[in-house]
Amino acid sequence: MTTAPVAGPRPVRAARGTELSALGWQQEAALRMLENNLDPEVAEHPDKLVVYGGTGKAARDWASFDALQRTLRTLKGDETMLVQSGRPVGVFQTHEWAPRVLLANSNLVGDWANWEEFRRLEHLGLTMYGQMTAGSWIYIGTQGILQGTYETFAAVAEQHFGGTLAGTVTLTAGLGGMGGAQPLAVTMNDGVAICIDCDPRAIARRIEHRYLDVQATSLEHALELAVEARDARRGLSIGLLGNAAELVPQLLAMDAPIDIVTDQTSAHDPLSYLPVGVDFDDMATYAQKDPQEFTQRSRESMARHVEAMVGFMDKGAQVFDYGNSIRGEAQLAGYTRAFDFPGFVPAYIRPLFCEGKGPFRWAALSGDPADIAATDRAILELFPDNANLHRWIPMAQERVHFQGLPARICWLGYGERHLAGLRFNEMVASGELKAPIVIGRDHLDCGSVASPYRETEAMLDGSDAIADWPLLNAMVNVASGASWVSIHHGGGVGMGRSIHAGQVAVADGTDLAAQKLARVLTNDPGMGVIRHVDAGYDRAADVAEERGVRVPMREHG
Ligand code: NAD
Repeated sequence: MTTAPVAGPRPVRAARGTELSALGWQQEAALRMLENNLDPEVAEHPDKLVVYGGTGKAARDWASFDALQRTLRTLKGDETMLVQSGRPVGVFQTHEWAPRVLLANSNLVGDWANWEEFRRLEHLGLTMYGQMTAGSWIYIGTQGILQGTYETFAAVAEQHFGGTLAGTVTLTAGLGGMGGAQPLAVTMNDGVAICIDCDPRAIARRIEHRYLDVQATSLEHALELAVEARDARRGLSIGLLGNAAELVPQLLAMDAPIDIVTDQTSAHDPLSYLPVGVDFDDMATYAQKDPQEFTQRSRESMARHVEAMVGFMDKGAQVFDYGNSIRGEAQLAGYTRAFDFPGFVPAYIRPLFCEGKGPFRWAALSGDPADIAATDRAILELFPDNANLHRWIPMAQERVHFQGLPARICWLGYGERHLAGLRFNEMVASGELKAPIVIGRDHLDCGSVASPYRETEAMLDGSDAIADWPLLNAMVNVASGASWVSIHHGGGVGMGRSIHAGQVAVADGTDLAAQKLARVLTNDPGMGVIRHVDAGYDRAADVAEERGVRVPMREHG
């Protein structure tokens, strides 16, 4: 057996059109989505195979990437490739209903599930950080989180500001792969956002992709622009270069008129958060040279940052943690009031989870934006009474810049997702779409995560840390016919803090795909319903009853 020579970093881009380089569309879909995750338009640091979320990677190293490509091209329709933290480790004969790829990323045994041990193993080349959709090949750029962020800000508006963010100012930080959705989500709700980032490239990228409107030249300039737009009740997003751990306390000390505060710096990973007093240009070298000292300093800075967020809360602002574990990190640095403000899921999103609602997404393998436009029309026809959707899709069409393969996201619930999947499959079969559609979701979904600082924070029955649910979710997706399924550890909140699962199903226009889609896209959100019924949520129990989800412990006789 010979080993292929290893080529280093190079631009990667998924093929478009209908010509296959794999043996079937299910394998071709996995290949194109792996490549699409690393498209320079899509990935934050493609040379390092990093897609988003600190160091969330699509493949462990370039040799593994080459082997993944090679194996997907030769994989048969009744075989399954196994991927261990970004490296293909085996191919087994299974059957055509089985997933073509099974992935497990960043998983560590409980007592060893910390950053120190993870880094040691990563350094030895034995693992990689998979984040959520990075290591499971269904990242679609910043749009992937946009509707969730939009929904969250819409819920803030609904609960506290009479249904609109017009006339309010939001302060946040982090304009990376996911955090970059914040400015657009705020302006879509007609509000003003000041968004801090210490990386000038992140600000420039969001302006280029039309997620961010302008960059301020100073703190004072940012406030001036914000107040002017707020008073005119005009939506505006303002980028501000600097360290959030310095600027947020400064804004508090200035008594800046801020109504809403959150944060999406990559705080889940202390080596990806810039400490006060460190130059952005020195960050990577310093983090690598002395990770322990860097971690201590970044945690201390997060404590200052969170302390200022609490200060804004004390002054009456609406403050929430946006799923990056910044409260947990600040607490580790000794700040005792870190958990005084809530996470965004218990505060705003859980009622949607009770209905099996979550971030349903799809991408057009043809590469043709016209295919997404056709699916947009189909979705609107399928759900004529869904007012949110009818507001969202035209707005997304107008304002979302596609990154890589054209894609769309919209939140759909139990009883809805499979209708969309089946419709897309018919459109592929009839030739209305030029090529198959890949249908997936974030791991941040209703029944696929155990994450006590995020998706399962403050569950009604106290079951926050029970991690059986994402494992059951992965298994039911395998049993239902998903095209690839993944189990990850860490994700958006970091080591030791979450276990989560992902699934992707391909609508290739065949009858078999229709049967699989009907099951996967019913059972997957069904996990969200049963998870919340089990935890005691009345809304979930009603949904189960109304929509016929069987929950054995509620059946009698
Ligand atoms: P990313 O690594 O692509 O971007 C993080 C950004 O934070 C970078 O641009 C970086 O320059 C900036 N940053 C770091 N330290 C800073 C500091 N001290 N001051 C100002 N800016 C600083 O990460 P991402 O994909 O945007 O994700 C951001 C965070 O949100 C992660 O922790 C991620 O896990 C979490 N996340 C949340 C959700 C959600 O729905 N709430 C979803 C996905 C990810």
